[in-house]
Amino acid sequence: MNVQMTVGSLLERAEKLYGKKQVISRTHSGIQRFTYKETGQRTRRLAHALEKLGVGKGDRVGTLAWNHHRHLEAYFAVPGIGAVLHTINIRLSPEQISYIINHAEDQVLLVDIDLVPLIEKIQPTLKTVHSYIIMSDDKLPDTTLSPVHSYEDLLKESNPSHPFAADIDENDPAGMCYTSATTGNPKGVVYSHRAIVLHSYALGLADTTAISEKDVAMPVVPMFHVNAWGLPFAAAFFGTTQVLPGPQFTPQILAELIQNEKVTITAGVPTIWLGLLNELERGDYDNSSLRSILCGGSAAPKGMITAFEEKYNIPFAHAYGMTETTPLALISTIKSYQEDSLNEAEKLELQSKQGLLVPGLEMKVIGANGEVDWDGKEMGELLIRGPWIAGEYYKDERTYDAFRDGWLYTGDVVTVDDEGNVKIVDRTKDLIKSGGEWISSVDLENAVMSHEAVFEACVVAIPDPRWQERPIACVVLKDAYKGKVTKEELLAYLSSLVAKWSLPDDIIFMEEIPKTSVGKFLKRTLREQVKETLSNQMNG
Ligand code: AMP
Repeated sequence: MNVQMTVGSLLERAEKLYGKKQVISRTHSGIQRFTYKETGQRTRRLAHALEKLGVGKGDRVGTLAWNHHRHLEAYFAVPGIGAVLHTINIRLSPEQISYIINHAEDQVLLVDIDLVPLIEKIQPTLKTVHSYIIMSDDKLPDTTLSPVHSYEDLLKESNPSHPFAADIDENDPAGMCYTSATTGNPKGVVYSHRAIVLHSYALGLADTTAISEKDVAMPVVPMFHVNAWGLPFAAAFFGTTQVLPGPQFTPQILAELIQNEKVTITAGVPTIWLGLLNELERGDYDNSSLRSILCGGSAAPKGMITAFEEKYNIPFAHAYGMTETTPLALISTIKSYQEDSLNEAEKLELQSKQGLLVPGLEMKVIGANGEVDWDGKEMGELLIRGPWIAGEYYKDERTYDAFRDGWLYTGDVVTVDDEGNVKIVDRTKDLIKSGGEWISSVDLENAVMSHEAVFEACVVAIPDPRWQERPIACVVLKDAYKGKVTKEELLAYLSSLVAKWSLPDDIIFMEEIPKTSVGKFLKRTLREQVKETLSNQMNG
């Protein structure tokens, strides 16, 4: 039957079949617990309230919020009435936030109480917003936002059994998220109902994340970044208990939530997991419930994979995706016949790759001479297509660069081995070309980070008159090693791991590596910092 796949139907299943299961939400006032039955009622109240505020089909509703139950309610209420959930990255600059709210033409904004000052500052620049709703456990704060409503008051005045819209086409937009561009303003990616539903199915597959009713899922990846990798949608669909870690969480808070709520699967970027590792080393936590740490967004260093798996006995899943891919596209996989045939080092090598294409998607890798050989060596740009891959950027000319002939050009340079495992070598723009040879900054970073004294390392290219480009490694040492490790020691260590010509020309110790709003290395900024440091060194 040609039945439409809709986001509302995901929550409806939880309401009907898993009404007793819980959404556990950390907010400013502590841990709050709601059953899916209550979540359904609150979501329907919100849907009703939004309609009363004039939100109609196709209208955009923006959220500026952390991971908590109210954000989850918006995840279903907004698409439930046929409107479009626009999750806004709270870590962008005020100018960028203003740009994307205006570009998306948001009608209503749902704002967390601690983010109100951010919006107050840019309110005069917002052209389309006609209502602000403040999400808080307490009364409305004093604010210049106007007209302003209290989320909880709106819910009280609305109908807990308000029906979701019946006339939604699965190809209608359900959500949108802006992704940072190398140049210019962020680009908008739109998710259809169909894309979100099919992606939820994909997360449930045994060979991907296998998320199921038996899990307790904690998305640490922000709900403003690619729908927290789709976990809140999939978790509702499967009746999975969700733990939402709330505002300003620390590694300690995450470790305590894992222990106290018996989290089985969690997801986030490598920086988060480095922080958690540090915390596990410091404290005495019971993390025996965890069956999977899902890590993506940047390459997972081998040392981190080993630490989690061997020291803490926590299986580590390395995945790859983009805002444009909803996001799950690749996941590291050890095939059944490899379990016995590969040794530990070979298995680690496989896990550090981004892995196999998720069922339902197609890929191509295009190098200098057409499609590359699957030999683990020839490099090319990864192209992907499939039912949960975006088809364009929202009202943006840059669509024509990235979406061509029915494929998404990811901008990621990869190799593919003879088993089909994809390895990200670099972003097209981050590869280092030295004397005609390519140096993978990711490989170098991995090598530096495998040293016991290193907390984080990021490698960038600087222009070089002779070689065109040369790598420089920026290193943050672990606290206990600060001032105790020299450049020369690190270089000597590296020379046993990488080819001589790819050794970094210099190592710069730093207190912190600049990161993007979602925790990835900000290589552009770092390149500028490195140039400045090196020219100061030369002049001084
Ligand atoms: P975003 O749209 O902000 O999620 O960024 C997507 C980009 O992050 C991809 O194009 C890759 O360059 C990078 N990325 C995502 N996952 C991984 C991973 N597992 N390893 C290396 N890079 C990754």
